[in-house]
Amino acid sequence: MVNVQSRDWVVMKFGGTSVASAACWETIRAQVSKNLAAGQRVLIVVSALAGVTNLLTRLADGLDEKKREQARAELDAKHRALHQALELQPSEKFRQFREDLQALIDGCTAAPLPAAQRARLLAYGERLSSTIGAGALAAVGLDIAWQDARTLLHTAPGCEGEFLTASCEDHADPELERALASQGRLHITQGFIASGQGGETCLLGRGGSDTSAACLAARLGAGRLEIWTDVPGIFSADPRQVPQARLLRRLSYSEAQELASMGAKVLHPPSIQPARTHRIPVHIKDTNRPDEPGTRIVARHAREEAQVKGVVSRADITLIRMDNPGMWRQSGFLADAFGVFKQHGYSVDLISTSESTVTVSLDPQVPAHYDSARMAAFIADLEKLCRVTVHNGCVSISLVGNAIRTILGRVSAALDVFQDRRVHMVTQSANDLNL
Ligand code: ASP
Ligand code: MG
Repeated sequence: MVNVQSRDWVVMKFGGTSVASAACWETIRAQVSKNLAAGQRVLIVVSALAGVTNLLTRLADGLDEKKREQARAELDAKHRALHQALELQPSEKFRQFREDLQALIDGCTAAPLPAAQRARLLAYGERLSSTIGAGALAAVGLDIAWQDARTLLHTAPGCEGEFLTASCEDHADPELERALASQGRLHITQGFIASGQGGETCLLGRGGSDTSAACLAARLGAGRLEIWTDVPGIFSADPRQVPQARLLRRLSYSEAQELASMGAKVLHPPSIQPARTHRIPVHIKDTNRPDEPGTRIVARHAREEAQVKGVVSRADITLIRMDNPGMWRQSGFLADAFGVFKQHGYSVDLISTSESTVTVSLDPQVPAHYDSARMAAFIADLEKLCRVTVHNGCVSISLVGNAIRTILGRVSAALDVFQDRRVHMVTQSANDLNL
């Protein structure tokens, strides 16, 4: 449902490299002040300082005592360096969080932590960074309120037990909007974190701060979502691999969704949907070059010409080929086969079919197929229905753009490069956005 709130909120999300230095916080101050001066209310959503979630993940995976102490020291050093660069004393809240985190680290061993504890540990990255950020902005005279993300964002029903990759509610919440507005015009909170139905700490998956920000923008009925990062926007291809890649100044929600899902790394793929549902424009900006135009993601113009907007790739894709000569003229094979996918919690991404063969790729956002025991049980059940071949380590390459079917002729030359490659499957997405 499109909400009718005032739209005077701007949600500004800053990624890990965008919060890690004093220069970053000067840019944040300037950009926040600009929005405040324009009469907007601002909610800042931050990631953990660059590298912190990786360190916490290593601790959660299990380390021997020596490595554990190294990780602890590295975590401390990162936060201390930022405090020093900002010429800031650690606040009372920061000290408390640090102490709580130390206690959790004391409980870590060489064995991996169970999911609920892992979520609690990883949540401290964003807790600490948002606390330093609140101090930095208060020190330069901004009136800012620190908010616990777990009071703002709740996991969606059906996510019970999903401590690490939960989805969140994104319906408009005028009551929340009024509650925040009554506490001031500027707030800061943590990305990546939400509370489960029972109040437990849950995470939105690696890179999930974008999605936190999008869900919060939806809940507040924001007029704009700004994603501040360390690249100038979304490019037509990965500029590290393709130097002549162009910055895409404007994308439709569906193009951005398709690019993000098919491998563009700038945005967490589930972040587009809340913005799109609530018609919130998304603006991707470079914290190191705040005056550059960035990429705007907005609703599609009805008469926009069809065009390939980007070429993106994903590595490490698993394909499953199912052969069943008996499938011809028989009904129900797909239902049975996909029943096995459902039963084992595997989600299908791409699909291509023939009379007796179906090839699918596994959704790489659901990392269950990295669990070899689970994968073996799944394949064993599938083999009761058909012959199964698994191809690991494939690469998917996607040409993305609206109405791509209408311009297949124009992209045909690009297909020449596959002449000497082994192609396992070719698919064209039913939404006509991706080949
Ligand atoms: N800090 C989390 C991560 O590194 C979430 C985020 O930054 O989006 O995955
Ligand atoms: Mg990110």
